[in-house]
Parts: sequence; C-alpha cells; structure tokens
Amino acid sequence: MPIEKPSGAKIRQDFIDFFVDKGHTFVPSSSLVPGGDQTLLFTNAGMVQFKDVFLGTDKRPYNRATNSQKCMRVAGKHNDLDEVGRDDTHHTFFEMLGNWSFGDYYKKEAIAWAWELLTDVWGLPKEDIYATCFKDELGEIPTDEEAAQAWRQQPGFNPNHVLFFGRKDNFWEMADVGPCGPSSEIHLDRGLQYCNMQDVTGHVCQVNGDCTRYLELWNLVFIQYNRLNEPRLEPLPARHVDTGMGFERIVSVLQDVDSNYKTDLFTPLLDKVQELTGDSDQARQEHLTPYRVIGDHSRAATFLIADGVVPGNTGRNYVCRMIIRRAARFGGKIGLKEPFLAKVAQCVIEDYGEFYPELKRNRETILNSITREEERFQRTLESGLAKLETTLARLKEAATSAQQQVEQAAESVSRPRLSGEQAFELYATYGLPLEITRDVAREYDLEVDEAGFQHAMEEHRLASGAGQAFGSLGGEDVEVYRELLSELQDQGKLGSEGVYYDPYTQLEVEGEVLALVRDGQSVHSAQLGERVEVLLPETGFYVASGGQVADTGSIVSISEPGWEIEVVDMRKPAAGMIVHVGEVRRGEPQVGDTAIARVDLQRRRDIMRNHTATHLLHAELQSVLGSHARQAGSLVAPDRLRFDFNHPKAVTPEELRRIEAGVNRHILGNYALKINFKPLQEAIDEGAMALFGEKYSTTVRTIAIAEDRTQVEPFSYELCGGTHVNETGDIGLFLITNEGSTAAGIRRIEAVTGRGAYELVQRRFQALDQAAAALTTTPENVPGKVGDLLEELSEAHRHIANLRREMASVEFIRQLDSVPMVAGVQVLTATLSGANADTLREMTDRFRQRYESGVAVLASLSDDNRPILVAAVTEDLTKRGLHAGKLVKHVAEQLGGGGGGRPTLAQAGGKDASRLEQALESVKPWVQDHLE
Ligand SMILES: [Zn+2]
Ligand SMILES: [Zn+2]
Repeated sequence: MPIEKPSGAKIRQDFIDFFVDKGHTFVPSSSLVPGGDQTLLFTNAGMVQFKDVFLGTDKRPYNRATNSQKCMRVAGKHNDLDEVGRDDTHHTFFEMLGNWSFGDYYKKEAIAWAWELLTDVWGLPKEDIYATCFKDELGEIPTDEEAAQAWRQQPGFNPNHVLFFGRKDNFWEMADVGPCGPSSEIHLDRGLQYCNMQDVTGHVCQVNGDCTRYLELWNLVFIQYNRLNEPRLEPLPARHVDTGMGFERIVSVLQDVDSNYKTDLFTPLLDKVQELTGDSDQARQEHLTPYRVIGDHSRAATFLIADGVVPGNTGRNYVCRMIIRRAARFGGKIGLKEPFLAKVAQCVIEDYGEFYPELKRNRETILNSITREEERFQRTLESGLAKLETTLARLKEAATSAQQQVEQAAESVSRPRLSGEQAFELYATYGLPLEITRDVAREYDLEVDEAGFQHAMEEHRLASGAGQAFGSLGGEDVEVYRELLSELQDQGKLGSEGVYYDPYTQLEVEGEVLALVRDGQSVHSAQLGERVEVLLPETGFYVASGGQVADTGSIVSISEPGWEIEVVDMRKPAAGMIVHVGEVRRGEPQVGDTAIARVDLQRRRDIMRNHTATHLLHAELQSVLGSHARQAGSLVAPDRLRFDFNHPKAVTPEELRRIEAGVNRHILGNYALKINFKPLQEAIDEGAMALFGEKYSTTVRTIAIAEDRTQVEPFSYELCGGTHVNETGDIGLFLITNEGSTAAGIRRIEAVTGRGAYELVQRRFQALDQAAAALTTTPENVPGKVGDLLEELSEAHRHIANLRREMASVEFIRQLDSVPMVAGVQVLTATLSGANADTLREMTDRFRQRYESGVAVLASLSDDNRPILVAAVTEDLTKRGLHAGKLVKHVAEQLGGGGGGRPTLAQAGGKDASRLEQALESVKPWVQDHLE
C-alpha cells in the first residue's frame, strides 16, 4: 500500500493515462441518457456506447479505447433503491473505468496490463490477487485455458490463485443471441478483518463467497463467440476485449477505507451536510443513513440534470424527482428544513467538474432545478407525511391487536401492509413518491403493496386520459399550477378566485399571457410547432363538462411581431386555474405579450344547438316513454349528440318517430330559454332535473324551456352548466340517426341538428336522386319501381333454378347410357352440379326406371359447399345383402358426415367436399364386398 493516499481524481486519471500510454484513445463518457437505445432507461455500463461496434453495425476511427463512464442504476435485484444509503456499497450513480479492444489485442495483453496497473502502478500486494476463469459446468463451451495460462505467466502471480467458475460468474452475454464470451474477474483478498461473517459458524471466506473479505475489482470480458441460438455458438472473426472496473470500489481499496462513503468521492459532500446540520461527529455517525442518502442522491441528481434530465413524473424525470425528494426527506429527519441540496450539489460540481465539464457548464440549471424541486416538495411534504404517519400508526395499532389475538389462537399472521390505493393517493395528492412512502413505512416496520400501487396508478392514468394529452399525472400538474397561481396572485395579476371564467357571454377576450406551460414546466416562450398551455387572466372557452366537449379556437397576439396559437383543448389542472391547450402555428409567443383569444364560433354554435336539443330530447323521451327514461350519460359534440337513458327495451320505430316529431315541434315553437342562477335546494324543490352522481355546488344554473311564456310549468327544466341557444328555433332541425343498446337497461340515441341535420338531409336527397336517375323514374316513384324490380328478380331466380335442374337431368341421362357393371350389377356413381336433394331423388327414380337391377349413388354440393348424397338400391339387390342406408353411411362417413334410410333409398350429408370424388369411388368395392 502506498503511504500517501491518492485522491479519487488521481486514481481516475492514472487509469486513463496508463491505457493511453498503451495506445488507447481516451473517449469521453457518454450521457447518462443513452442515445438511440430505447430499451435502456439509463446508461448502466461502459460498453453501452460501444454496443454498435460489438454488434458490427458501427466502426470507430480507433481500435483501442479507454474511458470513465457515468452510470446510473435504480432498479433490478442488485440495486434496489431501498438499499442505497443503508449500506456502504450501493449507489444510484457510479463511475465505471474501462479499456476496450475492437478486434485488436486480446487476452494476453489485457491480462498483462491489468496486472501491471494493479501491482506496479497502484502497488496492490501480488499475493492478495486472485483471478477467476471460465469453465463450463455443462461441458459445451471450451474451458478458457488461454486466459488461465496468461494469468499464470504474470510475474509474481501465485499460479494457485487461478480459480475456475461456470456460466453465472464467468460467461458474458449481451442478450439471448449475439456477441458473447468468457470473462476473467480479478478479486482482491482484503484480509480477515474485512470479513463481515466471522461470527457465523461454519463460514468460510472465499472468492465469489458470501462475505465482504474478497472484493471483485475488475471484470475482463473476452468477446470471441456469436450466439446463434441456445446451444449454438460460432467463433467471431474479430475478437474484442471489454473491461469494467467499479471506480468507487477501487478508490475505497487504494484509500484503504471500509466504505465507499469514506473515500474522498463522498467525504466533502458528507462534510457539507454536517456543516449544515451542525452535527457533532458522533451525531453524524448516528445518522449514517441520512448522510449517505443525501451524499449519493445529490451526486446522482447533479449528474442527471447536467445530462438534461429534469424532475418530473415519468421515466427518467421521475427518477430525478424521486431521488431529490428522498434526499430532502432524509434531510428533514436530521433537522434540515430549508432547501439545502443545492449546497451539496455545489460541492459535487466542484469535485467532479474538472473531469466532467458538463457539470460546470450547467451549474445554474442544476442548482435551480434541485432547489425548485425541493421547494415544490416541501410545500406538500408536511401535510403528506402527517397523513402517511397517521395512516401507518393506525395500521400498526390494528396489526398489533390482531397479532395479540392471533398469538392466543397460536396462528401466524402476515405483516400488515399499506394498501396500493393509499400509497397512490399520497402520491397523487401530496406528491409523495412510492419510494419515500416505502422508506417511511419501513420505519414503522410495515410494508407497502407495491403491485397495488402500480395498479392504482394505471387505473388513474386510464381514468384521467393522461398519456394522450400531456402524459402527466394530476399530482405534478397540481403543484406546478398551484405555484403559478400563488405567484400571479401575489403579483396582483390574478384575483383570489383565479382565472375568470365566462363561457356564456364572452367568446372573445383580450388579455396578457400570464404563463406558458410546456411538458409540465413553466416556460418563458414557446417555439413554432410546440404544444403548450396558455394561461390568460380570463377566458370564454368552455372547459369540457356535463358531456359537452371543450371549445377550440385561436389565440393571436395583437403586438408585433405577431404569433398565433391554435387552441385544441381546454384544461382545469388545479382549482382556479384554466388553461388553453394549443399548438404554436406562427411566431414565438412570450409571457407578457397581449393577445386576443377567440372561440371558434361556428363550432361553438353547433355545440349549443346539440346541447339544447339534448334537453328537448330528454323531455320528449320522458313524455313518450315514461318518467323512467332518465339521462344515464351524454355527449354533446359539434357534429352530433349522443344520449343514454334508462329504458328496459328497444324503442320502437313508431316511438322514435313520435320522439323526433316532438322535438321538432318544440324547435318550430321557437321557445326562449330561461337561464337562472339559484340555490340548489330551491331548484330541486321546483322540480329541476338533477343527475344522480353529479356534484353540484350550493348555487346552480338552471335551464328552463316552456311552450308559453306565461306558463308556470316548463316542459324541460334541468340543472346545467352548458352553453345553449337563445331560442329553440336556433336548432333548425333535429334528426335521430341511430337507436341501440349500450348496457342492460340502458338505450342510446344518436342525433344531429342544425348544419349536421342539413348535411344529412342533403346526403339522403342526393342518394335518392341518384337512385331515381338509375331507375329512370322520379324520386317519388323509386319505392314502386324498386318493388317491381325485386319481383322480376325473384322470378328470374326461379327460372334459373329450373334451368339448373334441367341441365342436371340432361347430364344424368347422358351418364345413364354408360353405367359400368360390378359383379354383374349396374353401379352408377355421379355428381350432378346444381341439383338439390329432391332432384337427386328424382334422378334415382329415373335410374330405377331404366335398370331393373342396380345401385346408384348420386351427389351434389349444397350452396354452402357441403356434399349431399342419395343412394338407391333396386328391390332385388336388397335380398342379396345390399342396403342403401348402409351404403350411403359408408360414403358419408368418409366426408365427415352421416345419414341413413330405407334399404332401397337413403340420404346423407357430409362436410368435406374435397374428398367427394374419392368417396364415390369407394362405392364399387363396397358393392363387390357386400353382394351375396
Ligand atoms: Zn468471510
Ligand atoms: Zn345540459
């Protein structure tokens, strides 16, 4: 061991310099976000950026490379996040040192250089080093004697330290097929004092054993085969070397410490935490887990953000969010209440920025992102944690009493779990990631139903329709928008109620762009083609509710240079917040610009017509079908309306006609709509129709339609927040297009109004005119003419059937002239195309008229191509052992069918027409066999 401990930075540089001296090209680390590899969440090994070279799909200007690769692992059985911080060796972010040969040097050089670096340059004791080599336990792949031999030749290497292991430890494969080969691992015996299992009786320290005495330092992979399939391997024309050395581990060895967190890769970060808490050394030792979590996670978050990952709700962004929040919570446990992670991240940038300049370049972004995420989390953390802790305490209590009861009954009970629903609610409402909930539950000695959590998350995703729009969960949105809302309220740009919403009277509104939100992040400006959410102080765009779809339209700047956003949807992401979801069509919108938002008027009018018509339909259904026909669902779109209602059976055409006529009578009556706001109870007392399961506030909007202005009782009276026409006459025309069933006891009517109805009428007229022209008659005479034509057609069909029968008998008569003899008996087999069973029987009569003694089996194919068979045996032959029923059965069975009948006449059917000919040929041998 060297006396003076080398720094981590020096060790990394030593490694690279050593291989550069051996003719390697230094290749900078690739991003943590793998380029072009959709299968991988994060870069997790040094070879990721060279994968294409091994697969032969890419070439590099060098054939020897060395690097230190940034890696990230957060899942998988060896890197459960749960473990990170609780021991000395697990990390989320880590560095991997490696050297590569692409079809250049091979085992001899790789092993010699590894030996030289470890023992000469770094001075590790030769006697403590072991090397494992591959020996196939299945005996299919040759033992790697080449590597073993190379090891035995290293100066000072103990030849007994070559150990052989099988496929699990010493054979590397990229996938089920593709490049693969044996590996050789270098292990270091750190001495008995490093064994963590000395107290366990029967424990033996060994390489690849279960204690911490032998450390795997370096894995040398020799890619020499291509796997075609299991078990076939073919040798590769170009052989490669791929090595990987865990950086944190080699540093802990060379700095002679028993924990990665005691290396100078982490000590400055942990010192910083101690400085912030003011902990004594003893307190720091007692809070080892929070210190390690903060050290690991702040380092990982710093590197992630430098590579363009931002805290968010899905994929990599979620990982970034989750580690920041997990670190923040552990900080809270040791008394760090203010945002503090940026201060630790600052140390990461200082310590690692020399080798990874992207950290320095992105310093501001890194620090800001981390602090913002911490603040966002803090706002909900306290209420979320309080809620979680009460829930857990209650669970624990219930479990303890259950345990006591069970103990009396001498049974065992499984550990109580926090349900997936509860964990999800904590995430959706308070932004508590599952990983944090699990951490806290663990402190209560409880488990979390993780499968249940995933299930609940999936359900929510489906229910909210997220994934199609912005792919974001309610949880994140709520926070971003709540934050925006309070900022804008502080600035006096939004009132206490938030965005002013009036979709009833103002369809064009001018205002300042208060915020733009892209991918759940507030941004200053948006680019051409980008999807963005626009926040204005007020809006007249309707937000989808009560079955009525959202308005669309445009937002256009009034200042130069101009820009335009096409509004495609509306969203209410948080209380008091309403945003226009749109796409930039022209220019570059910026926060602070003044713009005019215009609802697409034509589309809106179509929607209003359909909505008021829906109310008329609802009233008419009750009047025609009865008061049970209440609304069960509704869609009000610009091009159609759809109305589901309770009714036990199909609506008859007569009822449908009456309903449609009734609605149109109300339209022609041109009644004015009376729209009021009043207390909910008053409206219900007056008989307004409220929908079951719908939530109403204490003041409601009512829509009343009456036939006569003085009439007290309106025929339609509903609670409704939708947009409506002024007078029913505005609807124009109402046409039912479809009636059907959606579920037991629920019927559905679809209809069109206004422009949609006019277009439908136009299309029908056009079709009718075309039909009339083709029939050379007037539209009014089309039904009569079509009736005549149908009659002619069926007459023609009858005629064709007769012709076919005649053709069959002509063909049969021709065949009757040359009936072959079998054992002195006339045996006729024939297929008569186009004949039905009656015709076949008729033909057998003709056969019997012509021949006094004989056997006939006649076949044809039915319309659906199934064989039909009729067999006839003359009376005299029935006495000689022939039976028509048995014969026809014998034939039909070969066609997958069956049948039977009298000794003289029988009929059968089959399934397989393709074997008909063959089956008929079996008649003659059958007759021969059975004739006595
Ligand atoms: Zn041991
Ligand atoms: Zn309505």
